[in-house]
Amino acid sequence: MLLKIYFKALNVLKFSCLFKKTIVINGLLLYLYFIDSLRQPQQIQNMKTKLFSFILFLVLFGSCKEPKVIEINTEKLLESVKILSADDMQGRFFSTPGNLKARQYIVDQFTELGLQKVVNNDYVQEFSHTFKGKSRHEAFPMVKPKPLDDYSNVPDTTATGGNIIGMLKGQTNKSFVITAHFDHLGVRDGKIYNGADDNASGTAALFTIAQYFKDKPTKHNLIFAAVDAEEIGSLGADYFLKNYRDKENIDLNINMDMIAHSDYDPELFGSGLYHYPDLRDPLEDIYSEKITLLFGHDDPENKEQSDWTFSSDHRVFHRAQIPFIYFGVPDHKDYHRSTDTYGTINQDFYIEAVKIVIQAIENLDESLSN
Ligand SMILES: [Zn+2]
Repeated sequence: MLLKIYFKALNVLKFSCLFKKTIVINGLLLYLYFIDSLRQPQQIQNMKTKLFSFILFLVLFGSCKEPKVIEINTEKLLESVKILSADDMQGRFFSTPGNLKARQYIVDQFTELGLQKVVNNDYVQEFSHTFKGKSRHEAFPMVKPKPLDDYSNVPDTTATGGNIIGMLKGQTNKSFVITAHFDHLGVRDGKIYNGADDNASGTAALFTIAQYFKDKPTKHNLIFAAVDAEEIGSLGADYFLKNYRDKENIDLNINMDMIAHSDYDPELFGSGLYHYPDLRDPLEDIYSEKITLLFGHDDPENKEQSDWTFSSDHRVFHRAQIPFIYFGVPDHKDYHRSTDTYGTINQDFYIEAVKIVIQAIENLDESLSN
């Protein structure tokens, strides 16, 4: 019984294989020492010693579960984050020239990848939003709204933005929608909010993931959606889903928002299992030696953790009863600050996080096809 708990504990702890082996061997030696000290008939002691020698042999020569080798172009991945979060993108606020520049860059990447066009035979899906009163002044500040505490003099302003959507065709008519918002906070008080982690990281990951699956057809169609206007209320994701004609065949939304920043322990969250427990097994099967993939931040009753169910674009899918898994990190020192730049992301963490999302898609594609 004790031994069973011991092995179970080893399994749960995500130590490296070699480390696990060392612990197991030490445990066995201790156990041998322990039974040796018991005054038992020699025969029984001999039997136990043989049995444990056999287990020791299995542990030593048994194969370790090796991490799956996932080949991605890491230079290209990092370069894309750098470009999307550069100063000339001006923080990519909805309907600004910087946002439009980012949009064009994403269109160029989708074109190069040869993704299929999903909406209106175009990669870009434009939509408009009318800003009123206070939100108008915050989005597009007037020099002097009069009077300052009353926005009645601020005229309504309709502005246009756009999602960028592309697809890799799968072997069935079922789909995964993989989302990452590309807009951010723009320029405030003269400071550019570059938004490298939030969310150039998720956006650039779309290209890498598409490149990875390009020659490895999945069962599900993979719809890549770089969505606009998340920072002002998930308007892009909302517009996409409202206008998407084949909702019944969307099996899952995989949303990435902030996957490149780790201040302390390298921990990435996969959030949503509280609502969609069926997704747990394929996600628990993911293996990484560099990052701990944690679950949580999805239980409204849990007072210890903030609930992220409605924190980003996955909320739109959740409200439409479409299961989601959201990958992200907790708010960090550079969150929604002008210091969220390419220089403050954690490159190794980010690369590994993208590989984890790829494994998640592979496992979920398999398990949700059965
Ligand atoms: Zn974000």
